[in-house]
Amino acid sequence: MYNDPLFQSAFSLLTQLHDKGYEGHIVGGAVRDLVLGRSVGDIDIATSALPHQVAQVFEHVIPIGIEHGTVLVRYQSQSFEVTTYRTEQGYTDFRHPDQVSFVQSIKEDLSRRDFTINAMAMDHKGDIIDPYAGKEDLTNQRIRAVGDAQTRFSEDPLRMMRALRFASQLQFEVDSEVSTAIESQAAKLGHIAIERIAVEFAKLTAGEDFRKGLQLCSRLGVYSQLPIFSKSPRLQKIIPEDRLEGFAVLIAYYYEQDNSVDIHQWVKSWKQSNKVKRDSFSLHNALHEFQQKNEVTHWLSYQLPKPLIPSFANLLRALGYQIEEQRLIKVAAELPIQSRNDLAFGAQDLIKLWPQRQKGPWIKSGIEKIEYAVVNKQLPNQYEQIKEWVDQWNPPVNN
Ligand code: ATP
Ligand code: MG
Repeated sequence: MYNDPLFQSAFSLLTQLHDKGYEGHIVGGAVRDLVLGRSVGDIDIATSALPHQVAQVFEHVIPIGIEHGTVLVRYQSQSFEVTTYRTEQGYTDFRHPDQVSFVQSIKEDLSRRDFTINAMAMDHKGDIIDPYAGKEDLTNQRIRAVGDAQTRFSEDPLRMMRALRFASQLQFEVDSEVSTAIESQAAKLGHIAIERIAVEFAKLTAGEDFRKGLQLCSRLGVYSQLPIFSKSPRLQKIIPEDRLEGFAVLIAYYYEQDNSVDIHQWVKSWKQSNKVKRDSFSLHNALHEFQQKNEVTHWLSYQLPKPLIPSFANLLRALGYQIEEQRLIKVAAELPIQSRNDLAFGAQDLIKLWPQRQKGPWIKSGIEKIEYAVVNKQLPNQYEQIKEWVDQWNPPVNN
């Protein structure tokens, strides 16, 4: 892992800071995942240098959160978020600390972090600083708060969601102080922007131990604070047969379990994007077609956007159907056309066959019929054969 080009660049970046007289450390998730031997997505750096000093050391520096001390450094074709050591005081709005103060020591910076396993730092030589025994908690597989859990969750209630998502992702247990604090303060999640809760909840349902994560949501009263779940005791008890990877799958899954709340309401109350909305509908429609025909039809495959194949396979698994993703890929590969544009016979050809007929909805429905027949391989995608098929056997209905 140390040989990974991303880590190589990070160590080189730390050395650059060191050579200019500043301290720099890899912090947070990257250290945790490195120690665990898990793959590392991105590397965050904490430094004693102030943002303008970081900008003097490196050539490509983009200010992305100067007021919080964060800049983005492009270095050796990689991006690093570099944040000045800081502490935070007061969270009267439960969102942003009232005051951010830059400090001089990494230890002070680590004290503001949520869990012991996220409060370790590594210097340019690879030495680990671990004032809260995060390494021991990694070994014991525990989610333990830095300091008093009750205090830390009332400062920032999002940490409660984070505790449960790390428990699911890492297959760890939450410490009893953490679970007690969540039980008593879950209601404070109401102060947190739903988009931020959604990010953590999606990571929880996609985690290795999603079952435990969801059971904790139920047992600790977190569901009572989540849109839609709060009003559906039924949904609070459901455990999918597989993890749900992404919000679109999540919506399609839960909508299938309880269709008293529609997809529009899911998207709206969880403040999801239009893309999530489109994908949820596509997945739901494909599921509907699957359930009607009891198989993966060509028509299903034709209508399902290719990038959603893994999500659809995921949805089927979560619902307990024994369909392999390979099957979906195979059916997609067999499709005679990919879209209506690929049809060998178009609207103009149809009009040419009945030039005296007034233009109207018959054209659209005629093309749809051809499309359906071609996709299902009842009709080859060839001009002459389609022409004959329409002309002799399937003239468009008159309207
Ligand atoms: P992931 O691998 O999912 O990105 P992560 O631990 O890196 O996990 P981030 O949300 O990227 O999580 O945050 C980076 C680090 O910032 C955390 O490891 C933690 O030290 C700190 N942190 C993030 N959110 C909070 C919070 N709400 N309260 C305190 N510290 C936090
Ligand atoms: Mg991270």
